[in-house]
Amino acid sequence: MRERRLSLQQCSQCSYTRFPASELCPECWSRNAVWCDVEPTGTIWSYTVYERALHPELKDAVPYTVAFIELAAGPVIPGRILCDEDSTPTIGDRVTGLFTDIDEEFTMLEWAPRQ
Ligand SMILES: [Zn+2]
Repeated sequence: MRERRLSLQQCSQCSYTRFPASELCPECWSRNAVWCDVEPTGTIWSYTVYERALHPELKDAVPYTVAFIELAAGPVIPGRILCDEDSTPTIGDRVTGLFTDIDEEFTMLEWAPRQ
């Protein structure tokens, strides 16, 4: 994340993108894999609005939206949606990943509606 790259594990034998990373490919059982950078783009697969902060650091962000993002590369990953308080995302909305530095050591991938 710190390098502003989204890398996912890809099977060396059948090219299946594994998320979460695993020792065995669920498609072909191969143990061989490589890490590949993928575009941080996708669509909202599902979402919910948090009325209480999951972590104290997010208390000022309440209410905030967390979604499952179906990446263009295939896997579905969770992430926070950055949207105005008065706008509601829609399933199928296209989003782009933004790498946000939380502090000097931690960078978080968040998602914004794609224009
Ligand atoms: Zn495979």
